[in-house]
Amino acid sequence: MPADVPPNLPPDQSMTCHEFTDFIMAWLDGELPPAQKAVFDEHMDICGDCVRYLENYRKTVALGQAAYAPVTEKALREEVPEELVQAVLAARRLGRD
Ligand SMILES: [Zn+2]
Repeated sequence: MPADVPPNLPPDQSMTCHEFTDFIMAWLDGELPPAQKAVFDEHMDICGDCVRYLENYRKTVALGQAAYAPVTEKALREEVPEELVQAVLAARRLGRD
């Protein structure tokens, strides 16, 4: 690694894995400017490690959101057996009294 690497990379420079992780949140939120998004997407094409990291990050975010999102009856019906839905709804009714 030469000591005289310029601190500011040119805009068309490929993204490093470290920069990739810095941009993940903005990318997931759709807030990445088009130029940076292009570089980000390009990095995913060449770096399997970051693709896996992104997948794990997304799962973690999804789990976090699921944990805080209100559970709707519709969501329950799509994911669990009917008996369990009824049991949960019955428990909720009991909890309200
Ligand atoms: Zn990478």
